Amino acid sequence: MLRVDGHCHLGHGIRRSVSARVLLKEMDRHGIDQAVVCSVDQFLAVDNREGNDLIAQTVKKHPDRLIGFASVNPWYGLAAVDELKRSLDQGLRGLKLNPFIQGFCITDEVVLPLVEVAADYGIPVYCHTGTPVGALPLQLADLAVRFPNVNFIMGHMGSADFVDEVIPAMEVAGNLFAETSKVQNCQLLKRVIERFGAERVIFGTNYPNSSYGVELEKMALLDLTPDIQGWVLGRSILRLIGPGPGCGNDVHDN
Ligand SMILES: [Zn+2]
Repeated sequence: MLRVDGHCHLGHGIRRSVSARVLLKEMDRHGIDQAVVCSVDQFLAVDNREGNDLIAQTVKKHPDRLIGFASVNPWYGLAAVDELKRSLDQGLRGLKLNPFIQGFCITDEVVLPLVEVAADYGIPVYCHTGTPVGALPLQLADLAVRFPNVNFIMGHMGSADFVDEVIPAMEVAGNLFAETSKVQNCQLLKRVIERFGAERVIFGTNYPNSSYGVELEKMALLDLTPDIQGWVLGRSILRLIGPGPGCGNDVHDN
């Protein structure tokens, strides 16, 4: 069974710093085969190109272990659209948005051109949620219903304070997927899996903001069957990302 971290970070930001060497060592220590990596801090907010280049270069060095998502700040307008396309053309496989760090609200029109690029390229959009006023699960559901052809990943499932929005949000938007990092409510995780299927739940660590040990222990507490575990811990995210150029992952191996 492939074990994939659906969301963690790479780079040297002002608040968090992770090198590829440290990340790969952590993954090895916890039996994680692959990880989806995103930029941190100032590379999300302003220095998008620098961040995307670091992610792209690192992923090229470890193509069997790391999958890179691009990040651009929607407020850069056309420049953001161009930078997203440039990053995707370099081999990045998704878009990461963080309304809290990038200073916008999910329901702002400013994000629409980026989602259009995601639709054109057929890539998933990961969006941080759980931070008021602009990064809430139901707001992401609003965006998701406008773009039924794009898959959206609800980062942290509303974190701690907005978990009550998770089920209604996933109910209205069938293209909304839940990512598990930072969620402490195991009952909710179980309910979401039972109601929407394991295919719509994605294991993520948010490393280094959380640890592999904690996030994996949480999964162990859910006491899932091997098949459901296979989806949550790997197949769900790989299915959204798709096989990609020259990548041998067979996600439908059951
Ligand atoms: Zn993140």
